[in-house]
Amino acid sequence: AKPKILITGGCGYIGSHVAKLLVQNGYEVVIIDNLSTTGKKIPYGKFYQVDLAVEEKVEKILKEEKPEAVMHFAASIVVPESVAFPLKYYRNNVENTLKLLSAMSRAKVKKFVFSSSAAVYGIPKTIPVPEDAPLEPINPYGRTKAMIERVLEDLSHAEALDYIALRYFNVAGADPEAELGPAYNQPTHLIIRALKTAKGEYPYLEIYGTNYPTPDGTCIRDYIHVMDLAEAHILALEYLLDGGKSLVLNCGYGVGVSVRQVVEAVKKVTGVDFKVIETERRPGDPPVLIADNRKIKSLFSWEPKFQNLEIIIQHAWAWEQKIK
Ligand code: UDP
Repeated sequence: AKPKILITGGCGYIGSHVAKLLVQNGYEVVIIDNLSTTGKKIPYGKFYQVDLAVEEKVEKILKEEKPEAVMHFAASIVVPESVAFPLKYYRNNVENTLKLLSAMSRAKVKKFVFSSSAAVYGIPKTIPVPEDAPLEPINPYGRTKAMIERVLEDLSHAEALDYIALRYFNVAGADPEAELGPAYNQPTHLIIRALKTAKGEYPYLEIYGTNYPTPDGTCIRDYIHVMDLAEAHILALEYLLDGGKSLVLNCGYGVGVSVRQVVEAVKKVTGVDFKVIETERRPGDPPVLIADNRKIKSLFSWEPKFQNLEIIIQHAWAWEQKIK
C-alpha cells in the first residue's frame, strides 16, 4: 500500500482537489479541516473536524495516524481581507502553522508540503519572477506566507524536517469532472466573481484599477488550473517520499493575462455580455505576477495538462452551473 498522507484544509478548494488525486493515485488520505470555508466534507479520505488552533487535538491525530507526510492547505487567503484584518491572518496562517509544526515535531512527522504564494514577492523587479527573487511582500497575507517559509528554512536546519514550499500563482478552474470546485461564501477572486456575474448573482463586475503600468492598464496574473497544481503537489510529495531535500518552487504557467483579458474570455465562454464597471485600485494588488517555472519543470518534469485560459474558465463554469 502507498503511504498515508495527512492534509490540513483538505475540504477547501485546492486541498480537496489534491485529496481526490492522492486517493486516485492509491494514497491513504487523512483530512483535518474545521470546515470554516465550505461547511462540508468531501467524499475522499478519513475526516477529522478539528481546528488547527487546538494543538493537542492535532498532536493526538498525528500520533495515532502516523502519516508519512503532512500537506498544509488550511489558511486564510484573501489579500484585501488580510489588509483589513491582519490579526486574523497572523493567527490563522502563522500561529496555527507554528502549532502544526510543533505537533509534527513531537509526533516525529518529517515531511511537509506547504502552500505558499506568489504574494511573498510583493512587486517583483524581475518578470517572470524566479524563486531566488527577494521576499518583499506588500500585504499581510503575503507576509504570513513569507514568515512561514523562513520558519521552515530554520526548522529544516535544526531538525530532520524536509519540506517543499509551493508558491502558487493565481489558482483557478475546477475538477474537470465537476465533482469538486471552489466553494466560497463571499468569493473575491476574479474568475469566480466574473462567472457569478454571468450567472446573474451580481449586477456587474468591477475592474479594480485601469491605470497600472501594463499594456491595457489592468493587473496581470498567471492563472493556473487547479488540477495542474494538484499534479505538482503529487510530484512534490513523491520527491520528498523518495528522500528529496527541501525546495521552494513556483507554480504557474509563466504566462501573464490581464484582468480585461480574463473578462473577455469569461464573456466568450459563458456567452453572457455582463456589465463591467471600472473602479479604483484595490489595496495590496501588485501590478504584474508571472512565474518563472523553469525550476519545477526541470526538477519534476511537470507537464501542465490544462494550460489554456478558456479551458480553465470552462471547467469553473461547469462547476458554477452545477452548484446552482
Ligand atoms: N479583480 C478585479 N475585480 C474583481 C476581482 C479581482 O478587477 O472582482 C482583479 C484584482 O484587483 C487583481 C486580479 O483581478 O488585479 C486578480 O485578483 P484575485 O483576487 O483573483 O487574485 P489575487 O491576485 O489577489 O490573489
